[in-house]
Amino acid sequence: RGDPGPSASAHRGDPAPGAPYDVLLVGGGIIGLSVAWRAARRGLRVAVVDPAPAGGASHAAAGMLAPVSEVTYTEEPLLRLGLASLARWPAFAAELAEDSGHDLDYRTEGTLDVAFGADDLAALDELATFMGRLGLPFERLTGRECRRLEPMLAPAVRGGLLAPGDAWVDPRRVTRALLAALERLGVTMIAARAAGLEHSGETVTGVRLAPEAPASAPGSGVPETVAFPGSSPGSAETADPPGAASGAAEASPGPFRGSAETAGPPGPASASPGAGPAGRVVPARRVILAAGAWSGAMEGLPPRALPPVRPVKGQIMRLRSPAPILGRCVRGVVHGSSVYLVPRGDGELVVGATQEELGFDTRVTAGGLWELLRDARELVPGVTELEVADVVAGLRPGTPDNLPLVGPAAPPGLSMATGHHRGGVLLAPLTAALLVDEVGDDEGLAALCSPLRFQEQR
Ligand code: FAD
Repeated sequence: RGDPGPSASAHRGDPAPGAPYDVLLVGGGIIGLSVAWRAARRGLRVAVVDPAPAGGASHAAAGMLAPVSEVTYTEEPLLRLGLASLARWPAFAAELAEDSGHDLDYRTEGTLDVAFGADDLAALDELATFMGRLGLPFERLTGRECRRLEPMLAPAVRGGLLAPGDAWVDPRRVTRALLAALERLGVTMIAARAAGLEHSGETVTGVRLAPEAPASAPGSGVPETVAFPGSSPGSAETADPPGAASGAAEASPGPFRGSAETAGPPGPASASPGAGPAGRVVPARRVILAAGAWSGAMEGLPPRALPPVRPVKGQIMRLRSPAPILGRCVRGVVHGSSVYLVPRGDGELVVGATQEELGFDTRVTAGGLWELLRDARELVPGVTELEVADVVAGLRPGTPDNLPLVGPAAPPGLSMATGHHRGGVLLAPLTAALLVDEVGDDEGLAALCSPLRFQEQR
């Protein structure tokens, strides 16, 4: 579909005090920021409420855009969503790079799944048969062919499946680029936690900001990150955002210098830097809940309307080498668990990831890191020589059927963009398109991820 491009009329100047935004995002992870960007590009007046944008699961994610190599026998609907979103990534990446002036490290050399023992090879062959039945592009490779593609692979690798259409991107670069694009489009960033939804009758009419935000330097134009108890690095068992905890210095998404609202006393809605939002209501014609793993805790919704989202912990590490040691993503099953290696253009190598059902625990543990390194070394023995750059635990927003919740929800005035679990980076372009770009739904994709599928059941 034709994209209108950034609207010249978008967001110039402050709105009338108290005027509702066209779209208000609760949550500024890769999903909320992507939706905000597409909405602002269409000329809508947009605000994002988040105490720590780009700090949740999106900060932890590896960035694989790999619906083919991640296909499982029971998840064909997810595969359909993934393939549709993968097809949108080239245009999404190009437009975002253009709007932001940032390089996203978007790469398209595919994913190589490797096998060691006879059992692994048999599983790979079965998977190849399944992929063939679905018409997915893949190449079955011998161990030698795998090593020809990736010379750093272990000699014990006996075969592989190459998914040449899979891609990957650096999610931290993507969220930084999205923040820069939003700044250029004049989107309002409100550095506060949304405490609950506001209603007029049945209809959601805005968001109430948490009153606990401390006052910040007025007129600074840079949103404060509001600290919550337990949200510091290494904290555990907290349901407060953000969800990422780091065991080493992390790249910060960087300050947002656009239309920013910082914490302060209650007052009318305003896009002016320094106008205090804490404790007040921000009105909006449409509120989109994009709070990742925290989406299920929003006040102001009856229990049956709350999204059934749970946190699924993932620990992941970033290693550093002077130059990339792999040319594409490499995955394998080692000791019964899946491990992957994702190379970045600057030599960084991402090793991920654990999957743990531990509530809002974001501790990085010795055992988690040990397992990752132990398994990664089986695939590529040289990884243990590399410098550790960063270790993080993030919370994936899981759902009962592993499909996201995207689209209008009950009550009226509320939409959802949450529950993306293991695939939020992959699914960001499709999510934004379904919510904003009015793509139509010839393929029935909107129905697959409609939030109403759970609301109607209850
Ligand atoms: P988040 O990024 O968690 O953002 C939610 C935001 O909401 C946060 O910024 C938080 O501060 C804010 N928030 C929460 N509560 C409130 C509130 N009350 N008010 C205001 N703001 C609030 N996906 C892929 O596609 N490919 C991968 O390779 C991949 N690898 C991953 C590896 C790991 C280790 C993990 C943990 C995840 C991975 N994922 C991957 C999944 C992906 O990271 C998530 O699906 C995606 O980041 C979800 O994005 P989000 O914006 O919904 O949530």
